[in-house]
Amino acid sequence: AKEAGRATYHFFEPGMDAKLQERRALEVDLRKAIEMDELELYYQPLIRLETNEISGFEALVRWQHPTRGTVSPADFIPLAEETGLIGAIGNWVLNRACADATAWPSHIKVAVNLSPLQFKNNALVLQVVAALGNSGLSGQRLELEITEAVMLHDTDATIAMLNDLRALGVRISMDDFGTGYSSLGYLRKFPFDKIKIDRSFIQDLSANPDSIAIVRAVANIGSALGMATTAEGVETEAELAQLRHEGCTEVQGYLFSKPRPAKEIHSLLARETCA
Ligand code: C2E
Ligand code: CA
Ligand code: CA
Ligand code: CA
Repeated sequence: AKEAGRATYHFFEPGMDAKLQERRALEVDLRKAIEMDELELYYQPLIRLETNEISGFEALVRWQHPTRGTVSPADFIPLAEETGLIGAIGNWVLNRACADATAWPSHIKVAVNLSPLQFKNNALVLQVVAALGNSGLSGQRLELEITEAVMLHDTDATIAMLNDLRALGVRISMDDFGTGYSSLGYLRKFPFDKIKIDRSFIQDLSANPDSIAIVRAVANIGSALGMATTAEGVETEAELAQLRHEGCTEVQGYLFSKPRPAKEIHSLLARETCA
């Protein structure tokens, strides 16, 4: 019997087996993490260039794993999407972010990332209504960030959901702009309030004149369509100066602050930003 057991085990290719087991272990842990309260939201300031003041914070989820340490969302959000856990995580993030924001001054907004898969759930709008209702946060203080992947399927249903969300006063931002397909068509079709220019363009700003031209064009399109434009991943004073010059309305990046735990928000708000 012992021999047979061993033979079964060796049926798997060693490398493949290790990878699958690792993935499976992470999935089991992620399931537990939601119950064990191991997820946490960090917040990164958004700075409005007209006033040089913080206008809001983007909520970014962190997983404090008991033995692995901090696991990046870039690693576990895709896993959560594959396993369906994104529904529970997304709803937790929404409720936590709305609750945290009620402790902030009333002109400060909170931005929450939504996975495209959350739009496959018909209850999404009701979940947002519940998160606002449970926390007492006004819909005007919530922004939802979505990527182009949301717009690839079932366009009419998605537009209807976005309009229902906007009817609550919630604003919609197009995240990672410029990284997918046919973004310009989507800007006309979908009711966005804000365009977030992907970090890859900002990173390239000093070295690549084409990136400057693209940022300028997007800022102009935003202004013409009545949409705010946020530059993501601003790390240097030179980038900031350039983005001001091109007419972006908002910036976000390590130059001002990395994402910080909720308890540090008040000291971030008390600090000078980029005057
Ligand atoms: P994202 O929505 O594009 O978020 C911006 C990412 O850029 C964050 O990474 C942030 O920490 C990072 N970042 C901000 N400023 C700078 C900078 O100046 N330099 C550099 N190098 N990076 C900067 P993070 O927190 O690791 O999140 C990665 C991605 O994971 C997010 O990209 C988003 O797509 C996803 N994500 C995070 N939290 C959530 C969530 O609650 N729900 C969903 N569905 N996705 C989330
Ligand atoms: Ca985002
Ligand atoms: Ca982004
Ligand atoms: Ca992203």
